[in-house]
Amino acid sequence: MRNAILNYPLPANEPVKAYLPGSPERIALDAELKRQHDTVVEIPLIIGGKEIYTGNIKTVVCPHDHKHVLAKYHVAGEKEIKMAIDAAMEARKVWANTDWTTRAAIIMKCAELLATKYRPILNAATMLGQSKNIYQAEIDSACETIDFFRYNVHYASKLYAVQPKNGNGIIDSTEYRPLEGFVLAVAPFNFTSIACNLNMTPVLLGNTTIWKPSTTATLSNYYLMKMFEEAGLPAGVVNFVPSRGAEIGKICCESKHLAGIHFTGSTKTFQSLWKSVGENIANYVSYPRLVGETGGKDYIFVHPSSDVAAVAHAAFTGAYEFQGQKCSAASRMYCPKSLWPAVLEKMKQFASEVKMGDVMDSENFINAVIDEASFDNIVSYIEYAKNSPDAEIVMGGKCDKTVGYFVEPTVIETTDPHFKSMEEEIFGPVLTVYPYDDDKVYETVDLLDKTSPYGLTGSVFGKDRLEVEKIADLLTYTAGNFYINDRPTGAVVGMQPFGGSRASGTNDKAGGEFNLIRWVLPRVIKETLVSPTDYHYTYMKK
Ligand code: NAD
Repeated sequence: MRNAILNYPLPANEPVKAYLPGSPERIALDAELKRQHDTVVEIPLIIGGKEIYTGNIKTVVCPHDHKHVLAKYHVAGEKEIKMAIDAAMEARKVWANTDWTTRAAIIMKCAELLATKYRPILNAATMLGQSKNIYQAEIDSACETIDFFRYNVHYASKLYAVQPKNGNGIIDSTEYRPLEGFVLAVAPFNFTSIACNLNMTPVLLGNTTIWKPSTTATLSNYYLMKMFEEAGLPAGVVNFVPSRGAEIGKICCESKHLAGIHFTGSTKTFQSLWKSVGENIANYVSYPRLVGETGGKDYIFVHPSSDVAAVAHAAFTGAYEFQGQKCSAASRMYCPKSLWPAVLEKMKQFASEVKMGDVMDSENFINAVIDEASFDNIVSYIEYAKNSPDAEIVMGGKCDKTVGYFVEPTVIETTDPHFKSMEEEIFGPVLTVYPYDDDKVYETVDLLDKTSPYGLTGSVFGKDRLEVEKIADLLTYTAGNFYINDRPTGAVVGMQPFGGSRASGTNDKAGGEFNLIRWVLPRVIKETLVSPTDYHYTYMKK
């Protein structure tokens, strides 16, 4: 019988490996890249622990070499999606009643497997399938994913320990029940870690999930699923269901057992899921928890007292790492006219130095954007700017999809603070800059606040710390993750729990303890040790 009260201390973050040529991690990664590059994996659905081959097949290709097929995956239809709902409901009967330390042991084993055997596998799949360079893959599919596993176990131990006060003659306690039904986890293409966490946070707390991976990230997501199985996750706890987003969304939202949606992706998709839940609201067993982290129009505000080199570095890396496809990527900048020429010059210097191309060549800082639809969308914004009297392409702007979906790091300079690309999310390596008059700092801050519907990330630069503080106050609701003298991206689990409000999501802070509360239904239990039998108030007694 296990009756120990286990201690799960705050973990250290997983160290980012250097991948120097000849290092053990580099040798392992190179071998795995070659293996995956030379293999075409057949990916089934995994429902209730069973592999299902529907025969409706789609392909996963390398975005930087789009004729190269990495995998063929089977697509679920209505029948399989309904099977997945049944499998999740069946598995929860045991999983919800499994001791939480056993669930935690499986999650901790996932972390260990990923830190060792699966590290090159997940990194290679993320590099090839999502076009990330070594560093971008390492911080995502290895380190952040491992951190999510380990931190969440620590946070769960703290959550379960939150208990009410006991009085004389009674025992009070709170039982953190998992939600009553299944959780639909809908994942984006851009972070392997997010796809993992959307499932495994609810799972740690006793829930079961139906996992809709993003089409373009199916390969890395499939390897995650294999890792969960190897760690001992019971059949049906996570059901891996590649499918059409609109179809799985509709069927799951129509199920009375939908207990929660854990979503990361675009604002438009999240709003459509929310609407479907609204349409079905009278049919559910309980109100589904809707947790969504969505789009952004993340900004850098530069005060005239700023350091030019620091701003240029933040703008360049913040806007162009992973081709600007991070929800937190800098995509608009407000720069005083006095500093802008020097900042731009420095950015141009960086742009002339970096290389763009295949992920297999480790010299490439920039790789490809995810797919043709995304490429065409980015091109449309660049073309719009080229043809507009209010804007000019002052850096980059070239795009080529002959071999892969390549877009140069691009700066649009505009005289219109409401220019289309100052307001709308593009999700590519495009930064729009509005140079403002140095004496209009506060007018420009106000403009920033009112320009875009989003509220995800933002940063302010300035050496004048008192001014920076005033600006930070004025921008209170513009970002859920706010940075001072740093770029607005690069949140780390346990350090900067992540999420925004306004049109950017429900701000439930992935990588922090608050997120866990969304996946439990507390039941408070009062036990009276000696039950009373006399109804009289004391003063009524003779
Ligand atoms: P997307 O909305 O196109 O797709 C996300 C997922 O939703 C995919 O799995 C897709 O297949 C699925 N989907 C599409 N239509 C659906 C529907 N009707 N019902 C159910 N599911 C549906 O987003 P994406 O292109 O994969 O990711 C990019 C977006 O994600 C950007 O807007 C970015 O800002 C956002 N994002 C936000 C965060 C954050 O933490 N705020 C993190 C990463 C990405």
